[in-house]
Amino acid sequence: MRTILIGPPGAGKGTQAKFICQQYGIPQISTGDMLRAHKAQGTKLGLEAAKFMNAGALVPDEVVIGMVEDRLTQPDAAKGFLFDGFPRTVAQAESLDATLARLGLKLDGVVLIEVADDLLVRRVCGRRTDRRSGQIYHLEYNPPPPDADLVLRDDDREETVRARLKAYHDQTAPLIPYYEQRGLLRRVDGVGEMDEVTKRVLTALGAS
Ligand code: AMP
Repeated sequence: MRTILIGPPGAGKGTQAKFICQQYGIPQISTGDMLRAHKAQGTKLGLEAAKFMNAGALVPDEVVIGMVEDRLTQPDAAKGFLFDGFPRTVAQAESLDATLARLGLKLDGVVLIEVADDLLVRRVCGRRTDRRSGQIYHLEYNPPPPDADLVLRDDDREETVRARLKAYHDQTAPLIPYYEQRGLLRRVDGVGEMDEVTKRVLTALGAS
């Protein structure tokens, strides 16, 4: 299975990606996670990327494309993969098409998880991580225990979330017609219980 999850910030791509990857036994390739790891390690790439990430802007295409090309050549990607948060621009999608063509590979499908903007802001701004366990909670939907040591991700602040939504509509939404024209796009309603959305995604991918 070679697939892509597209959706606005807070649509639940990361959560759904984990289930799907387990189901198919394929690696989850999240450019957001890769960039956060660089940031945490203080690499040159991470320091450069942090400026864009903290402002809610996209990291330049060439940085992300280079990172993904390296990742695709690792042995675990041979059995398939799921991209979560990549591509985010038409230029990234074109570059991915070229890389896959070079490797003789084709995408099986692209799943778009749809959620309205207002709900996304509520979802993302309430998200907190426990510094000690790494567990993610939501102040309203999945309240943390009283002793949790909570931290708000830098880019989950409301003004940053609004900037990330704008980046999504301006730069990422053009991927919808891009993949629609190629017959690859499957739309999934991202509102509802997590398990319910997972079922819809698996159905869209033809798994059940
Ligand atoms: P995410 O966790 O996928 O929401 O990504 C967090 C942040 O990392 C985004 O707001 C961007 O600043 C950056 N980022 C992640 N993936 C990409 C990408 N494919 N292209 C450009 N920037 C990205």
